[in-house]
Amino acid sequence: MNELKIDQKEQNSKPFMTDYEKGYRQALVDINTPKLAIIPDSDYESSKCPTCGKDFYPDYERCRDGRYIRPYGLDRCPFCGQALDWGD
Ligand SMILES: [Zn+2]
Repeated sequence: MNELKIDQKEQNSKPFMTDYEKGYRQALVDINTPKLAIIPDSDYESSKCPTCGKDFYPDYERCRDGRYIRPYGLDRCPFCGQALDWGD
């Protein structure tokens, strides 16, 4: 008599996410997954954020005697909030 509409049920149980929500979630994952900071081989160039590309000098990175002192204590990019990994 009463036929179960299985297809309909399964469809209704799927969480509905718009592209915006998917993008938002992915952005949250990305920003909280530490990315390697861009540290130039040369001590005479400043380091940068891997996501927004902003220079940490002069606000967060000091320069002494022409050499840049890496801001290893920065957990996140102060400009875009990207979690940072400074390597070893
Ligand atoms: Zn950034």
